[in-house]
Amino acid sequence: MIKHHPTFSMLQNFVDGDLPASLAAGVAMHAGMCPMCQQKIIQLTEQVAEANFEESSDLDLFTNDADMKTAELDFDDIIGEITASDDVEPMKAASIERSVSFKGTQYVLPNVLRNMSLGKTAQIGKLSRARILLDEGEIHTNLLHIGAGGSIPEHTHKGFELTLLLAGTFADEQGEYVPGDFIMLDKRHQHQPATELGCLCYTVANDALHFTQGINKLLNPIGSFIY
Ligand SMILES: [Zn+2]
Repeated sequence: MIKHHPTFSMLQNFVDGDLPASLAAGVAMHAGMCPMCQQKIIQLTEQVAEANFEESSDLDLFTNDADMKTAELDFDDIIGEITASDDVEPMKAASIERSVSFKGTQYVLPNVLRNMSLGKTAQIGKLSRARILLDEGEIHTNLLHIGAGGSIPEHTHKGFELTLLLAGTFADEQGEYVPGDFIMLDKRHQHQPATELGCLCYTVANDALHFTQGINKLLNPIGSFIY
């Protein structure tokens, strides 16, 4: 069961269109796997639509009509995006599916990522990383694959790090994560993720990871690699 969700304010920012594309894609993918957050987004979107309607109700009736239509359109767009990221219609999705392969395992990407440009895959040991080219300056977005039995040395974060687990499982000091888990960490957190059977994550970070323990400090190039 998914245990880690975006915060309420992040969902609010998502509905308001205030998130960078990388984080908005992360929230949309999570909502595609999490009926609870999908429901919250629908409610928030309805509230935005209602607020727009109330704001405009003081104006003349003609503009009301137009605003209503705009609000409905936005709503449909957002719901469309959410459902597009889900596997609700496998028949439709089949023709436009996009998959990536890491270490011999093929993964179908969520539809949200379908049209994003992927850089070349780089590898260090059991880690493989393909950049998602979003051109957001210091915010870097990656597909990160950790092969079976792989781990990332204990580290902390100078900025934030979002990990959305897309496939497989991994565990750290907080427990085990399943696909859909939306894990937002910052410099207060320190963790050492490891995977038994391998996993694929969507990651967004705005600074290199910082390794914290003894010899791990020598591994800081991995931090840059992952970032
Ligand atoms: Zn959720």
